[in-house]
Amino acid sequence: MRELRNTLELARNAGVAVGHFNVSDLVVLKAVFCSAQELQVPVLVGASEGEREFMGVRQIAALVKSLREEFDFPVFLNADHTHNMESAIVAAKAGFDSVVFDASALPFEQNARQTREAVEALKAINPAILVEGEIGNIGTGSEIHELSPDLSKYLTTPAEAKQFVNFTGVDVLAPAVGNMHGMSRKMVEGEKRKRLDIERVSQIKAAALVPLTLHGGSGTDDEDLRQAIAAGISIIHINTELRVAWRNGLEAGLTAQPGQVVPYNILPFAVESVGQVVRARLRLFNHLEDVPAEASNRAASRVREQQAVS
Ligand SMILES: [Zn+2]
Repeated sequence: MRELRNTLELARNAGVAVGHFNVSDLVVLKAVFCSAQELQVPVLVGASEGEREFMGVRQIAALVKSLREEFDFPVFLNADHTHNMESAIVAAKAGFDSVVFDASALPFEQNARQTREAVEALKAINPAILVEGEIGNIGTGSEIHELSPDLSKYLTTPAEAKQFVNFTGVDVLAPAVGNMHGMSRKMVEGEKRKRLDIERVSQIKAAALVPLTLHGGSGTDDEDLRQAIAAGISIIHINTELRVAWRNGLEAGLTAQPGQVVPYNILPFAVESVGQVVRARLRLFNHLEDVPAEASNRAASRVREQQAVS
């Protein structure tokens, strides 16, 4: 089975990015995994501290491992935004493939020192684990914000990126390049899109020389995402868009079947609603936008038939 490190290398060589989707439950996990399987592209499942607390650290690790093994499929698990060493260690011991150690709220020097300690501690548990560090400010909370803060003065500089990567030894870097966690109401309604500083992505990539992650990808302009991938982004995080789709799908399922109480008759509406977003994002990240949906559906059903036969 491929490791996450190889998957990122292959993606970079192919000029594509690996989609990272946060999950809080089996509905979203199912939507993420089935979409990636349908399009036959690798995928990263993310679970933040809050999401891990809800699902159980070892429980989500076991679910993702069971999918990877049963389907021999490159699905990986990331401990998203881990703010302290203790929970980073718990995730590493549970078998997560990567950890985002996020001390970005601290001043640069302290962030660098703590991240370096985290890299050492986590690699001692699992030498193959990837550790991601974060510098700059990209806001908090993958939810709908009434006001979007002006984060333009907290963008990452190429010099900081280089210094941070060299000092900490992180495998992956999350810079601030115009991205932001969460979406404004206008973004949810499609009236406004986030815009990225593409030139800055290129400069940071050239200075840092490690894979770069774009956090807070929800609501970002499609063309900016394509250009950011070309400029050096290897992983793109999508969370808020899935949360909006999850709620819409759930409401549709409840409205369509008044009086229905069987969860597996209601929840497929949410799986489908989330899946539509995941597939659209994976197509964009993997340059599959020209592949007609029907063709990929046929390919996927052939895969399923083969699996049923074997
Ligand atoms: Zn994030």
